[in-house]
Amino acid sequence: MASYFDEHDCEPLQDGEQPNHLLHMARLLLDSGLGAEWDMEYGSVFGGDRKVPPASKASVEALETHLVTPTEAALEKKCPICLSLLDEEDEVKKMPCSHIFHSKCILPWLQKVNSCPVCRHELPTDDPEYEEFKKHKARAKQREFELDSLHNSMFG
Ligand SMILES: [Zn+2]
Ligand SMILES: [Zn+2]
Repeated sequence: MASYFDEHDCEPLQDGEQPNHLLHMARLLLDSGLGAEWDMEYGSVFGGDRKVPPASKASVEALETHLVTPTEAALEKKCPICLSLLDEEDEVKKMPCSHIFHSKCILPWLQKVNSCPVCRHELPTDDPEYEEFKKHKARAKQREFELDSLHNSMFG
């Protein structure tokens, strides 16, 4: 992937150069956009070369499963996938992010994608390449955070 600086035709700060606050803001905005670009690359669930890997078997099996209780049914929550009510006695699975789905709805989903359809919370995958990609993404985020902290401590 082309780096931000390649794409936008500007240079990183040189030593002693004053940061441009507008540029800094723009970079933050663009970085969120770049995240989306990565996601699109991996997010082409219905076509494209590089598909999001499914959730690992172990992580799916580890999901909390239960039957909808009368109390839960009374809340009249809907399954975000099929949009029908979670009825009493329906078998549901709870994602680590606490979102609840019918087992029959979330299982086929997790065989295609490793993330929660509502909030995109990710489950582990069995795909070493993708796990590597996630690590890179986390590191990039961490670096951004450190840069921000540094920036704040210098100019805050
Ligand atoms: Zn459902
Ligand atoms: Zn979720």
